[in-house]
Amino acid sequence: MFPSRFRYEAPHSLDEAIGLLHDGGDYVKVLAGGQSLVPMMKLRFASPEMIVDINNLPGLAYHRTDPDGSLRIGALCRHADLERSDLLKGAQPTMAAAAPLVADPLVRNRGTLVGSLCHADPQGDWASVMLALGGSVIAQGPGGKRAIPLAEFVTGPFQNVLEHDEIAVEAVVPAARGVRSGGYLKLERRVGDFATVGVAVAIETSGTTVVRAGIALTGVGGSTIGATEAAQALTGQPLTADGIAEAAELAAAAAQPRTDHRGTAEYKRQLVRVFVKRILAGSQGDGATGEPAERAA
Ligand SMILES: Cc1cc2nc3c(=O)[nH]c(=O)nc-3n(C[C@H](O)[C@H](O)[C@H](O)COP(=O)(O)OP(=O)(O)OC[C@H]3O[C@@H](n4cnc5c(N)ncnc54)[C@H](O)[C@@H]3O)c2cc1C
Repeated sequence: MFPSRFRYEAPHSLDEAIGLLHDGGDYVKVLAGGQSLVPMMKLRFASPEMIVDINNLPGLAYHRTDPDGSLRIGALCRHADLERSDLLKGAQPTMAAAAPLVADPLVRNRGTLVGSLCHADPQGDWASVMLALGGSVIAQGPGGKRAIPLAEFVTGPFQNVLEHDEIAVEAVVPAARGVRSGGYLKLERRVGDFATVGVAVAIETSGTTVVRAGIALTGVGGSTIGATEAAQALTGQPLTADGIAEAAELAAAAAQPRTDHRGTAEYKRQLVRVFVKRILAGSQGDGATGEPAERAA
């Protein structure tokens, strides 16, 4: 199918882009990688009156670690940039594990992490990863910038808190308070598919004590789920077999899976349990887990 008619603008500055969003009325859409928006338009699930293509905006294709240790990912940083990034290896095990599992190479060459967060698909991988890491989105509008924690950014399936004239200019992962470990595991029916179940775990340890934990779930509810009780159960103590078992149970209880063509609700809940255990068991050892081999788990 072809999309409905729309006006197309490709500004060369952020101010111009924000101005177009501000003046353009309610149904204007930002275009980043187009890997979700264009299919939605072709299926006529979305029929915006105007598209503001941000691909000509300078200075948004970065990802970098700041002196304070935070990782900043610009709105035009592609999934493939993160997949190939040396910055992620070792320092960001949850992100490094997730990057090669997002879609397929063609989609990863164009799609962006920030666009994925904005799209707020319950089956989107990055939202779980960023939620587990305590990340945030920086939005810029006519009034300036504001930081929105991921936990508040996604309000439901395909919904976020951005105002109609705001652009998400970057995503931020805060500096670790200790040594970071964790991973991302995803069951998909075939390579490049959306998650039947995905689990993101991010752990920060000082000595043997877990000083921060984050667990988030993909594809097992109406939106990305933060398993906050499971994460709290791990915090303030060493990682033990009992602690891991308790966190896995609490994460499974937080899931809200539905039986569908991908599997029964109970099967998906069991996968959450198993994935949490596997990632945390890896964190007890050398830190990271979540190799692409888990695609076919
Ligand atoms: C075949 C296929 C398989 C896929 N498989 C997966 C998968 O396994 N896992 C997964 O997570 N995703 C998957 N995706 C989705 C893909 O990752 C998209 O790239 C991503 O969801 C959206 O990023 P984008 O840059 O392409 O955004 P776009 O498609 O350009 O935009 C998506 C939405 O976000 C808004 N938006 C984008 N950027 C901004 C911004 N900077 N500020 C404000 N609003 C913005 C747009 O207006 C639109 O509403 C798949 C897509 C395809 C086509």
